[in-house]
Amino acid sequence: MSKLKIAELFYSIQGEGRYMGVPSVFLRTFGCNFTCGGFGMPRGEMSMERDAIAERMVEFRDYNELPLVSTGCDSYASWDPRFKDLSPMLETDAIVDRIMQILPHRRWEDEHLVITGGEPLLGWQRAYPDLLDHDSMHRLKEITFETNGTQPLSPEFKEYLLRWRAQREITFSVSAKLPGSGEQWSEAICPEVVCEYEQVGYTYLKLVVATEQDLTDAEQAVLEYRTAGFTGPVYVMPVGGVERVYTLNNRAVAEMAMRKGWRYSDRLQVPLFKNEWGT
Ligand code: SF4
Repeated sequence: MSKLKIAELFYSIQGEGRYMGVPSVFLRTFGCNFTCGGFGMPRGEMSMERDAIAERMVEFRDYNELPLVSTGCDSYASWDPRFKDLSPMLETDAIVDRIMQILPHRRWEDEHLVITGGEPLLGWQRAYPDLLDHDSMHRLKEITFETNGTQPLSPEFKEYLLRWRAQREITFSVSAKLPGSGEQWSEAICPEVVCEYEQVGYTYLKLVVATEQDLTDAEQAVLEYRTAGFTGPVYVMPVGGVERVYTLNNRAVAEMAMRKGWRYSDRLQVPLFKNEWGT
C-alpha cells in the first residue's frame, strides 16, 4: 500500500478558482520545489517570517498552532523541512478513513477533492492511484490538483488519469510563479508541462498579482503559455494570505482582470475564515 506525507487534511469551502464556493476536502501533501519568499515583499527582497517561526518550534506541537504569515508562502509548513515532523506519513487506507470521517454524510456526494501542497505532483504521483481506487472513493466525481505547473506527469500517472476521467472530471489549477514570488522565471514558467496537463484535464492559470509590474509579468507569462499552445482560461488572484494584505489589493486586482479580459479569483478563505489553518 502507498503512503503520503500529509501536511493537512480538512473539509472547507474552496475559496479560489473554478470551484469557488464548492464544499471540498483538501489534502495537502508535504514538499515543494520552491520557497516563494518574495510574496508581499518589495521586489528582490525575501520574507524572513518563517525563519523567526522556526526558531520558536518548541512552542508548537500541532500544525494548527503555527502562526500565519503576511509575507512569503502562506503554507510554508507544508514544505519547509524544519516543520516536517508536524506532517505524518500515512497509508492511503488511513487517509481515506480520515476523509470519510470529515465528509458530512460519511461518503462522497456533491463534494470535490482538492489535492494541494506544497507541490502535490512532486514525488507523490505513484501514490494517488491507490488513494483514488479505494472502494470508498468511487463516488468521488471531481478532483483538482493545485499545482505550481512545473512537474511533468509520469507516463504511468498520465495514463491512469486519462482512464479515471472517462466518467469524472479532473482539473489542474496552475498557480505559476511570477517573479514577484521570488522564483526564477526559467524554473517557474514551464509552458510545455502545462500544455501536457491540458491533455488530461480542464486546466487554467491562476496568477497571483499585486502590482502593475506583476501584471506586466503575467502578460509575458500568458504570451509564453499561449505560444506553446495553451488554450485554457487565465485567472488573476490578489496576493494576501492575511486579511490586511488581501483587502489592500483585491479590488485593484479585480480591475486588472477586467482590463485584460481575464478572470478574477477571490481567496474566499481569507474574508470568510481569516485563512486559518484547516480552512
Ligand atoms: S509553490 Fe506554492 S507551496 Fe510551494 S513555496 Fe510557492 S506558494 Fe508555497
